[in-house]
Amino acid sequence: MKRTPLVVANWKMHGQKAWIESFIQSFIGEFCGSRQEQQCEVVLCPPHVFLAQVQALVQSSVVKLGAQNLHSENKGPFTGEVSAPMLQEFGCTHVVVGHSERRTLFGETDSDVAAKFNAACQAGLVPILCVGENAQERQAEVTEVVVQRQLDAVLKQHGIAAFAKAVIAYEPVWAIGTGNTATPAQAQDVHRFIRKYLAGFSRDIAEKVKILYGGSVKADNAIMLAGESDIDGALVGGASMNVKDFLAICAGFSGRQI
Ligand code: PEP
Repeated sequence: MKRTPLVVANWKMHGQKAWIESFIQSFIGEFCGSRQEQQCEVVLCPPHVFLAQVQALVQSSVVKLGAQNLHSENKGPFTGEVSAPMLQEFGCTHVVVGHSERRTLFGETDSDVAAKFNAACQAGLVPILCVGENAQERQAEVTEVVVQRQLDAVLKQHGIAAFAKAVIAYEPVWAIGTGNTATPAQAQDVHRFIRKYLAGFSRDIAEKVKILYGGSVKADNAIMLAGESDIDGALVGGASMNVKDFLAICAGFSGRQI
């Protein structure tokens, strides 16, 4: 089964127009035309207000555009929110749903996340579904229970077919922004569990779905993570804001085709 590696930059609430322009020009200058361009798919997820700018900067390259969040409805009286058709109109191909910061800081429930996942699919966007346990849950050895519950919320509402055009990101909350990257073995255990669990519903979809790892991925740990058979790429926060580091992460995952 061939799963082309995918590396996603989550810039969170960071960035300014000038920085974005210079980042993308340098990144495209190095990445496009290199060997990695054929071997690794890259998605940049800026804050919503910069989508148009990034759309224009990446449009003649292979680099794709994603959003960090969306509302589950297509339109309506939801002040401050952005819908899937709006993201689509700005050239987004992907959207992150259920990031742990949305779940913990903005109170998104599993069922909210499932509704957003569905809205993304309906608009033809690829949802990047974030799942993962917090430190207490890992200590209590309920990682698989938590991850299964988060997957079930989508499976029960939308079925396994919804995963045919989705990406999953395993992001242990204790590893996000902390510098405490999961070891490749720890990450692989959970990735394997996710794939095996989905295989119980459809072996074909489970084999095809990309499962990214996120949580303090850096230039120096990407290659080890990429060496694990069920880790198909990375969702990168902090290190995605440094061109050199982000290029090194993409290089780490390039060439890993299963
Ligand atoms: C993230 O924001 O999804 C993330 C993984 O952040 P960091 O790489 O900074 O841990």
